[in-house]
Amino acid sequence: MSEADRDTPPLLVEHLTKRFRQGSRVIEALRDVSMTVRRGEFVATMGASGSGKSTLLHAMAGLTDIDAGSIQVDGRDLAGLSDAELTRFRRERIGLVFQAYNLMPLLTAEDNVRLPIMDRRGAPDNTLALLERLGLSDRRAHKPDALSGGEQQRVAIARALVADPAIILLDEPTGNLDSVAGAEICTLLRALCDEQDRTIVVVTHEPSVALAADRVEILRDGRIIGGFPTADFTDPQGLANAYQDALRQAADRAEVSS
Ligand code: ADP
Ligand code: MG
Repeated sequence: MSEADRDTPPLLVEHLTKRFRQGSRVIEALRDVSMTVRRGEFVATMGASGSGKSTLLHAMAGLTDIDAGSIQVDGRDLAGLSDAELTRFRRERIGLVFQAYNLMPLLTAEDNVRLPIMDRRGAPDNTLALLERLGLSDRRAHKPDALSGGEQQRVAIARALVADPAIILLDEPTGNLDSVAGAEICTLLRALCDEQDRTIVVVTHEPSVALAADRVEILRDGRIIGGFPTADFTDPQGLANAYQDALRQAADRAEVSS
């Protein structure tokens, strides 16, 4: 990797706007969102339901068209890629994890993990090492319906890592899990960042998930209204308070300016 590559942020979002049209109604799901994520950084985008978190994550993954602005992943402007190029780029450079795991039900855990590199002959295959690291070695021959929710999500995370992507994007990864399994996922994401220099963006409404990140960006009504580093907080409640304070300050600013 050249020095220039090293300096390229894995994710650069600039002035992103996304609207949904429903009949005559226009929903501004994202408004002028800008965000830079550096290599090895773990960022949590927090927001209430409907604030635009999933839309932002889908846009970052090139899964949705955008109305204005730009998104660069690993130095590539997603708008410059054809559909076929985008599909391939996503498979090779972006790891995606969803709340509902989205595993293939007929494939074993091992084959689910290997899926993104299946047709890449000669590509390094670290499936077994990933399964080992994620504590899934003895579950590798099981199909998803024989795995717990936490195990399924760890398979999904392994699948997101197998192609060695520039960035891993997760949408409410603990949303379907109990608190113990959720905490395991958070610990795992933190460790992947620290041990393997992975670059991670998670969108979540849960302070306990955000606490695992390096910093928080706050989304409200499709806008980034503030953010803070997580280093000052030792528990989710402290982070939740800071999040509420930031939302209140933004509401006050909006009132003053109106
Ligand atoms: P979150 O993930 O934070 O709950 P979303 O990104 O799903 O929020 O939604 C943001 C806004 O965009 C909401 O008002 C939602 O209703 C709207 N929205 C999301 N997807 C669509 C869609 N496919 N069509 C119309 N409106 C949508
Ligand atoms: Mg969502």
